[in-house]
Amino acid sequence: MNTRQHIDLAQAYSAHNYLPLPVVLESGEGVWVRDVEGKEYLDMLSSYSALNQGHRHPRIIKALNDQVGRLCLTSRAFHHDQFGLFCQEITGATGFEQVLPMNTGAEAVETAIKAARKWGYEKKGVEPDRAEIIVCLGNFHGRTTTIISFSSDELYRAGFGPYTPGFKMIPYNNPDALEVAITGNTVAFLVEPVQGEAGINVPDAGYLAECRHICDDHNVLLMADEIQTGLARTGKLFCWEYDDARPDVLIVGKALGGGLFPVSAVLSSKAVMSAFVPGNHGSTFGGNPIACAVAREAVKVTLEEKLVENSYEQGRYLREELGKLASPHVKEIRGRGLLIGVELHGPARPFCERLGELGILAKETHGTVIRFAPPLVITREQVDWALERIAQVLKA
Ligand SMILES: *Cc1c(COP(=O)(O)O)cnc(C)c1O
Repeated sequence: MNTRQHIDLAQAYSAHNYLPLPVVLESGEGVWVRDVEGKEYLDMLSSYSALNQGHRHPRIIKALNDQVGRLCLTSRAFHHDQFGLFCQEITGATGFEQVLPMNTGAEAVETAIKAARKWGYEKKGVEPDRAEIIVCLGNFHGRTTTIISFSSDELYRAGFGPYTPGFKMIPYNNPDALEVAITGNTVAFLVEPVQGEAGINVPDAGYLAECRHICDDHNVLLMADEIQTGLARTGKLFCWEYDDARPDVLIVGKALGGGLFPVSAVLSSKAVMSAFVPGNHGSTFGGNPIACAVAREAVKVTLEEKLVENSYEQGRYLREELGKLASPHVKEIRGRGLLIGVELHGPARPFCERLGELGILAKETHGTVIRFAPPLVITREQVDWALERIAQVLKA
């Protein structure tokens, strides 16, 4: 079947909740993917940072295959031999006491919200059903009914009410607004260290550190959603490290699954995790044997292949070189590590389509921003290859 035929099938038989570029992929390796016509592309989206380790990383594939050959699913009704090791290794790598594994990012965010509320009632002494969580304008934390209840994007919200109460919205990158919004009922501040979906919004240096202090002053949990920014994407293992602002609750997903499998997790202290007792939260697939085996290897690959360092280096280089293009279409270039946004003066979609023709897959976000977020295994030569083509498109 050719590209047109595949797209026609999707068009006819799937809900139209996405508007993909007209490319039908059939294989991938490292930073490269190939479509059904045999054309190759450099993947500069990386499934929204779920492919930090690249497509089909051989070590992670092997971990998955080995596990599939032994045991795939137990539910949490029984222990299995990957679970404890995963929990030990992920808490060790991140410096938190305990972990609760789920599958998708949205589920991990929901888990963090439940943990914060229960912590608020049991540890902070908030009156029943009065807990408030503060979030930011422009946030993206997923697509469940509760999460879209506190989105500021009408596209994500409209028509899906009634909405879950208990959330308060403040401007991003504004610590004073946080200080003002906190009341005796505030249990948590949920924030992205860089707002990815909002257009790669990078806050001022020191923003998270100030939020950390404010949360400490008021006994409020700082909850960092690092589903997109985590696991080396921004040139640190976690983006909070730029401000040395260790959160109370760390939410991870996407690249934790090594580009193969949905794995997410919430990491925190025993004091927060004690919100959960047998039966009050769970997931049939969360922490399953394949997920644990894959996530263990995904983290090892991230550390051992020095993806943090490479993301930092290549990201710095790519941003610098993009800046040198001096394109009249470009309004601003921003980012950290290999999470880069190029904001244009007009719609980004036509530029993404032209990049696609030249063999680069990139996706617009919020209309006017091109997001460049290649797999973190990308080499300097591959960055140069991409830059040549980006230059052709941005200078035209
Ligand atoms: C992708 C993303 C989510 C949601 O993850 P899903 O796996 O799509 O549910 C939540 N927060 C951030 C910051 C994300 O980038």
